[in-house]
Amino acid sequence: MTASDVSLEADDRGGAGSLQETFSPSDPTNTTGDYLIVTLLSTGLAQIKANQVRRDTDRGVVSTRQLSRPELLPAPWRAGFTRLWWRFLQAGLVPPEDDLTLFELCRAPFVEWDLPLELSDTDREASLLDGDELSELAREAAKLGVRDAEADFVEEQSFAVLKAVAAMNATTDEQAQANYELLRRFLIDHTVISDKQVRDLMRRFPAPGASGQPYVQSLIDTAYERHHSPAPTVTVRCCGGCGNPLAVDSTSCGTAGCTGTATTRELRVFDAYFVQHRGVRRYIHDAGLLEVRLYDTLRAELSERVVFLQPWPGRDAFDLLVAFLDPADPDPRRPVEVWGADGKDHASPSLLAIGFRWKHNPRCDRRFLVLPMHRVRQLGYVRDLETELEGRDNGVKVIDEEEFVRRVIARARQIGGGA
Ligand SMILES: [Zn+2]
Repeated sequence: MTASDVSLEADDRGGAGSLQETFSPSDPTNTTGDYLIVTLLSTGLAQIKANQVRRDTDRGVVSTRQLSRPELLPAPWRAGFTRLWWRFLQAGLVPPEDDLTLFELCRAPFVEWDLPLELSDTDREASLLDGDELSELAREAAKLGVRDAEADFVEEQSFAVLKAVAAMNATTDEQAQANYELLRRFLIDHTVISDKQVRDLMRRFPAPGASGQPYVQSLIDTAYERHHSPAPTVTVRCCGGCGNPLAVDSTSCGTAGCTGTATTRELRVFDAYFVQHRGVRRYIHDAGLLEVRLYDTLRAELSERVVFLQPWPGRDAFDLLVAFLDPADPDPRRPVEVWGADGKDHASPSLLAIGFRWKHNPRCDRRFLVLPMHRVRQLGYVRDLETELEGRDNGVKVIDEEEFVRRVIARARQIGGGA
């Protein structure tokens, strides 16, 4: 038996099955093989965590000791362990002897492992677990493993409910798109909201769910945690830059690339306020900061007669469609040229590349993968991304956000005849 014979049978949720298409395990380059191991282990860890939360909800207790019961360990974890076990043997090293040893190893950065896995320099500094929580790298890797299966992550669930609310409150595709834009922007603009704002949303999106209540309530219940307030005013400490709430004793938000300082906000409430769940904050709100920055900057610079801008076209095919309009006939349905931008703020450039697929509808003349400045300034980040992207998605240009904005403005002026 060789490492490539290891079965990647789909687990009960189909997670490992979709990995095969993502990674093509027969790929002779070992880099992909080691990322497959990282992804299998991360998917396994994510499922172990999800099972723990479910048991926690059922019984009101959690024990990490449950990790030692092999019958509870998910298929991706076992597949990842088997592949890793072979990699250790092939390198003449002693493999981790059991699940608990491997679990401990997952807390150590890859640079400290006896076996040097072939990962990018950026990723070698990371571990799979930060304490008992999945690291950013592990979360990004696990999403490659579960993306076609039932979502376990709160942000994936929120996206699914968001799409459903947008569609239920629309009779045309244009309305559904407009609803989607409004609700997604709401999640990016609001990390903390009052019950008064929730009531406004329910008036704006009244279509009922199974309970008879407006279904948009489910979006709030999925994306936010409810807190009771006996007082009519709630004071929230938050970051003036990104808007994320701050813990009582902390002065920094920890949001990648944010340099904002602590400030306070007052919310008027009936009797409750809602705080975004961590996953939604990180992967919808924080990641969305780049998306809305691109839109807002271009909208402020270029008039609607010059470019038509659509955020998240096709309800999230990519992040921003830029249609350059004909000065003689500025009709968005007949643009001179169309550019597409997908903004990406990932911790791991290699996993970003491995999971990156451009959705070709709507059609674009030029396609850009746009990075926020704080990623571009990270040593080796762009190099690792481009190396891993090579040969995967031809015709997509990696660019930083400032350069992208400059190019759009320059092209608009060219088409507009220097106006
Ligand atoms: Zn901040």
